[in-house]
Amino acid sequence: MKTEKYVLALDQGTTSSRAILFNHNGNVVAKAQKPIEQYFPHPGWVEHDPNEIWYSQSSVAAEVIAKADLTGLDIACIGITNQRETTIVWDRETSLPVYRAIVWQDRRTSDICKELQENGYTDMIREKTGLLIDAYFSATKIKWLLDNIEGVRERAEKGKLCFGTVDSWLVWKFTHGRIHVTDVSNASRTMLFNIHTLQWDKELLELFGIPESMLPEVKSSSEIYSETTTTLFSTKIPIAGIAGDQQAALFGQLCLEPGMTKTTYGTGCFMVMNTGNEVIKSENNLLSTIAWKIGNTVTYALEGSVFVGGAAIQWLRDGMNLISNAAQSETLATSVPDNGGVYFVPALTGMGAPYWDQYARGAILGITRGTTPAHITRATLEGIAFQVYDILKAMEHDTQRPSTEMRVDGGAVANNFLMQFQSNICRTKVIRPKVLETTALGAAYLAGLATGFWRDSEDLRQQWSVDKEFNPEDTEEHSEKILHMWHKAVARAQAWEELGD
Ligand code: ADP
Repeated sequence: MKTEKYVLALDQGTTSSRAILFNHNGNVVAKAQKPIEQYFPHPGWVEHDPNEIWYSQSSVAAEVIAKADLTGLDIACIGITNQRETTIVWDRETSLPVYRAIVWQDRRTSDICKELQENGYTDMIREKTGLLIDAYFSATKIKWLLDNIEGVRERAEKGKLCFGTVDSWLVWKFTHGRIHVTDVSNASRTMLFNIHTLQWDKELLELFGIPESMLPEVKSSSEIYSETTTTLFSTKIPIAGIAGDQQAALFGQLCLEPGMTKTTYGTGCFMVMNTGNEVIKSENNLLSTIAWKIGNTVTYALEGSVFVGGAAIQWLRDGMNLISNAAQSETLATSVPDNGGVYFVPALTGMGAPYWDQYARGAILGITRGTTPAHITRATLEGIAFQVYDILKAMEHDTQRPSTEMRVDGGAVANNFLMQFQSNICRTKVIRPKVLETTALGAAYLAGLATGFWRDSEDLRQQWSVDKEFNPEDTEEHSEKILHMWHKAVARAQAWEELGD
């Protein structure tokens, strides 16, 4: 055992399970990662194997400790962050899942959602949960399991089954089935949780036909839930922080004051704004959600997502063969002085907030004889930034507050052109921190605060350090001109499927 202690963050994501060790300065000491298999049994269905989620996550946890030449005795606590909404139901006695995990992306319950909308439940659900009715959230996925897997409803009604999002499942497995909990941030994504009263909502449980006995106890995001009882670590380690991935990233970015915003540029782009103790009702199709609860204080957030962000760059690489790696998009985009009048609306899978148009499709407009792969690539990067701009404006509108800065993370923030362009059109400062592992860091912070590893948020603020700041360089006039063209292009891409044949 060494004198210095570390916090172990477990980041169970959609495509991989990761474990990261942080030291007291909030720096990464070691990382381990394993991809997890994606199952697509039918078009629109996406599943994971819950046992694989567990063994991949627990094995990278053990691996990262060994990699750093440490043992469980050197670990102060564990923080968990996870893909949100993904739904697992298992047997309380045997811990065996009744079915695969139904992943957040899975659209099999779209019809149930459509029916709920048609039957006029939109306002009630929005009022209680802060969410728009959508197949992403856990409620309709649980209903599907109860209605479609033989014996599941009967066993659930007898109190024999547990439901959990991935955080609940991992805590259950780390404690040999003794502890069935979740935190408020994960609960707020189930579409069953009243974000005002902080209770599972009886009316919603009835609407979906879900027995309350299946549900985990809802805890704060920073407290000792239990110690691990697995033999994995050679000692018991307190599990002391839980938050869904986007909320954890907001915390890891130290967006701790109302009005502070972070955007993650990964496959999609996720913008989350801290709204303090207020639930802000969006007029622009953003979601109201719980950021975290620490002690007795609940912090709320507004959230908007772009479905296709970095994925548009993947498409240029794998679908179009215009580039051979993601980084090349920057070199190619900056090889031309401007977009040459080309606009790309990357609505490859519909459009998220503020448009919420599942019938929109990708559109590249303004092509002339002079258009080159460089223009298309530049238009792709700009298209990512324009979508983020639209969400930022929606947030400013909903909160009646202009934004002054945005903190950024995710794979695509390596692209300096993208970040500079983002700052130009938003006319706001874009800040890229040194530690980009903000999701895992947020989980580590939440756990470390609960165990006294870090004293308070002031202690954490000392650790904040900037890699690069981007300030608006373009003229306002030019920004307005290109934003006008972008919105013209969006109008062309919207409702494409319906208008087609
Ligand atoms: P996720 O967690 O969603 O898998 P990551 O945060 O790992 O995503 O980011 C990967 C995404 O970032 C990919 O879609 C990739 O195309 C994009 N990306 C990575 N590097 C760059 C770059 N230099 N420029 C633009 N996009 C990039």
